[in-house]
Amino acid sequence: MSFDYDLFVIGGGSGGVRAARVAAAGGAKVALAEEDRYGGTCVIRGCVPKKLMVYASEYSGMIEDGRAYGWDLENKGFNWDHFKTKLKAELDRLEGIYRNLLKNSGVESFDARAKLADAHTVELSDGSKKTAKHILIATGGRPWVPEFEGAELAITSNEMFHLERLPESILIVGGGYIASEFAGIMNGLGVKTTQFYRGEQILRGFDNEARGVVAAEMIASGIDLRLGLNVEKMAKEGAQIRVTDTEGNTHLFDQVMFATGRKPNADNLGLEELGIERGKGGEIKVDQYSQTPVPSVYAIGDVTDRVNLTPVAIREGMAFVETVFNGKPTSPDHELIPTAIFTQPEMGTIGLSEEDAVKQETIEVYTTSFKPMQQSFAGRAQKVLMKLIVSQASRKVLGCHIVAPGAGEMIQLAGIAVKMGATKEDFDRTVAVHPTMSEELVTLKTPTRVV
Ligand code: NDP
Repeated sequence: MSFDYDLFVIGGGSGGVRAARVAAAGGAKVALAEEDRYGGTCVIRGCVPKKLMVYASEYSGMIEDGRAYGWDLENKGFNWDHFKTKLKAELDRLEGIYRNLLKNSGVESFDARAKLADAHTVELSDGSKKTAKHILIATGGRPWVPEFEGAELAITSNEMFHLERLPESILIVGGGYIASEFAGIMNGLGVKTTQFYRGEQILRGFDNEARGVVAAEMIASGIDLRLGLNVEKMAKEGAQIRVTDTEGNTHLFDQVMFATGRKPNADNLGLEELGIERGKGGEIKVDQYSQTPVPSVYAIGDVTDRVNLTPVAIREGMAFVETVFNGKPTSPDHELIPTAIFTQPEMGTIGLSEEDAVKQETIEVYTTSFKPMQQSFAGRAQKVLMKLIVSQASRKVLGCHIVAPGAGEMIQLAGIAVKMGATKEDFDRTVAVHPTMSEELVTLKTPTRVV
């Protein structure tokens, strides 16, 4: 049977674009459909604009620090319109790059929504049908807001990049990556920021001590972080939103942003008709090669809800191409993934938290907390944390947790050592780079505790 294409990819985000162009570069005839902007969540409404907003928000503190170092600086405030115009231009540029990457690698792209018509056919929103030997679903996810009275007044991270004007006050609901990152951004930009998190401590699942340091520093920098608290209902009051919390108190905010998790984009894709199963959260269920029970249909990235990170979606896309087009069955590696949370201060982490490691075996915990030289000179009380979790039996470093400016950069490199199976003694043999913050990782002499 002959097909229009060897591969049809649905979704032009990080994972889909990478799979499409690598398959095409290897000689496959490839098409891709994207209903929105090319680049997906990461480039258009996630990692990239978020990081640019983090940079923007950090300058307020830098101006103060600069003065402490002797610079004659005046802070005349932040111009949201200026930033937004530049951000739009930058995202247009990046989207252009994504489109060109596809074009230059010979991928035919369709600006259309696509769904499965059968195991080898995709139907585009203009009604046309395309056949392909393989179909890859890489449609990502979207923010989810729980149902309650007044939920329609909430915005999500999607809208944060397009605000008409910067609010004077904002409530951010949730305690995950997105809520905690945006709390730092808004606070840094000078917005009076409140964060409600229903649990005991933000960033559930990460090392307790590390998330405690992040939360304490967020509070110290001016964020009104309320733990054990949620939104009961919301109502419009003039230009503002009146929020009733779960303790019955009410508050007024200019904006309320919910970051209460994300849902896979797997509705109306024709999956059910083909017998492709979805999990409890709506995700597409796949095997270790990202294959669905329909052999010609694969899925990668957030729509499969495995590890929802851009570089993981890219790896899953590459493993798909190796498996399907290069004859080398390859499972994406989901073990020991380093990650950074761009809170202020940043957190970088790889491997097991102390709480998870201790369930597994006897561990030595090495921690140090100190005021970094740069901030300390400027008179800031901010503390950083460096922490290693070490197996007492094998001496391997099971986890590394860093809370510090630049922790994302540090954990990428520490991550190589941990991924290679480095022992504590390997860390110790490495000469310190002085004076840096990360040198502490190779000079931790005595365990803080053995548990
Ligand atoms: P998360 O799943 O990380 O966090 C969701 C948060 O919302 C949790 O704190 C959760 O609380 C809370 N929550 C869930 N339901 C409700 C509810 N009904 N009422 C109140 N609170 C609720 O989702 P995010 O949206 O923050 O991020 C989604 C994913 O995106 C992340 O898991 C991550 O993989 C990725 N991401 C990665 C980034 C990075 O690499 N730097 C940055 C941003 C996103 P509880 O803990 O109690 O369940």
